[in-house]
Amino acid sequence: MKRNRRVKIIATLGPASHEEAMIEKLARSGADVFRINMSHASHELMHETVRRIRSVEARLKHPIGILVDLQGPKLRVGKFAEGAVHLAQGQTFTLDSDTTPGTLRRVQLPHPEILESVSVGDRLLLDDGKLQLRATRVGGGSIETEVIYGGKLSDKKGVSLPDTLLPMGALTDKDHADLLAGLAAEADWIALSFVQRPEDIIDVRKIVQGRAGVMAKIEKPQAVERLEEIIKLCDAFMIARGDLGVEMPIETVPGLQKRMIRIARRYGKPVVVATQMLESMITAPVPTRAEVSDVSIAVFEGADAIMLSAESASGQYPIEAVSMMSKVAVAVEGDINYRGIIRAQAAEPEATAADAISAATRQVAETLDLASIVTYTSSGSTAIRAARERPSKPILALSPNIRTARRLAVVWGVQCVETPDAVNLEDMVDRACLIAYQEGLARPGDRIAITAGIPLGTPGATNMLRIAFVRQDGAGSS
Ligand code: PGA
Ligand code: MN
Repeated sequence: MKRNRRVKIIATLGPASHEEAMIEKLARSGADVFRINMSHASHELMHETVRRIRSVEARLKHPIGILVDLQGPKLRVGKFAEGAVHLAQGQTFTLDSDTTPGTLRRVQLPHPEILESVSVGDRLLLDDGKLQLRATRVGGGSIETEVIYGGKLSDKKGVSLPDTLLPMGALTDKDHADLLAGLAAEADWIALSFVQRPEDIIDVRKIVQGRAGVMAKIEKPQAVERLEEIIKLCDAFMIARGDLGVEMPIETVPGLQKRMIRIARRYGKPVVVATQMLESMITAPVPTRAEVSDVSIAVFEGADAIMLSAESASGQYPIEAVSMMSKVAVAVEGDINYRGIIRAQAAEPEATAADAISAATRQVAETLDLASIVTYTSSGSTAIRAARERPSKPILALSPNIRTARRLAVVWGVQCVETPDAVNLEDMVDRACLIAYQEGLARPGDRIAITAGIPLGTPGATNMLRIAFVRQDGAGSS
């Protein structure tokens, strides 16, 4: 399961990929983390999917991250009698609270408070802005609209209301229940949609209490305005370009993406670039040139992870999409300009022992052309700081905690192995060398860099850098 790339791949699971055999194929093809989208999954399906992922993980003997993505206060239409309708420009279409399956004339909008907040003239953008309606008559629990841009509208597609002030908090009742279910299932990451304020993250952290990483999805102009405050509070964040491109002018999204990746790298917060990365692969076995270029840009900037949504969840070519993403990443990371671009965006270490050691380790590993960097990490934070340096050498994180190993699956360049804390310095060196050797990250005769905290096993105390020599039997000597 050794990966030949540093950027990680997140694959969303759905009807095209729920089965265990498919999950295994996706993991083998390169998926490092699986996303379960609670907009579409029931608790039962979520638990079952987690069980399948864990069984694949045990078979592959390789930690896999699970991201449970909460819907957030996202508005969605209800379901249609036929699964979908085709709305024509100029026709009338009504949104109401009637739970009967939708038709060409109407569909449910299951948010009664929204039916009351829309004013005549407000725009309703459907399915990531592909369709546009304008309210022509409101009141009596329904919104009558004129179709400005028509097209196919299928079950549970998203609705954005850029002109309407929404009377909604960060965590809906459904999110709260889904969050507790995700924690009970031992999800490694919880993603929070439509974050607007730093308080949204604080509220979620109070519930999560360190049992999972908290990932903020940046997809609202309100979040962009308070980006640094939000980023400081979360454990990772996602550039959720789907809704971001609806809520903000679409032409500002590439600039925002660049800005956000740079902030992420400065703070050392894992960042995920998401949505429409290989969109055309939903129905075609090969992507467009523009999509390949889009994936490349995220990789060149040093994003931690790139994500597939419908491509792997409901498309016709989930495996091809993961393989393609992986191939593009490998090509970019091997490109002659890659290291230069990555180094140019490197941030100075912060004034902490962990950062000073991480910076020194990268320098030593590159100067001496060491085979890899091995970090002992219990919470994962040292591994994240090592990754923040974006070293040209592989990072092997050793953790006694399987939850840490899984959480690190989303982090740039980190390969994690679960192993008990070292009992003494000799054991620390031996074990680092042996695992680096077993994982294919060092050969006999190579040297590696090892970082750890002395006394051994104390969390948050990284204070040591050691160079070790891998012996013929894979064990180590200093
Ligand atoms: P979603 O989030 O797929 O849950 O909408 C990602 C995005 O908006 O880009
Ligand atoms: Mn979204």
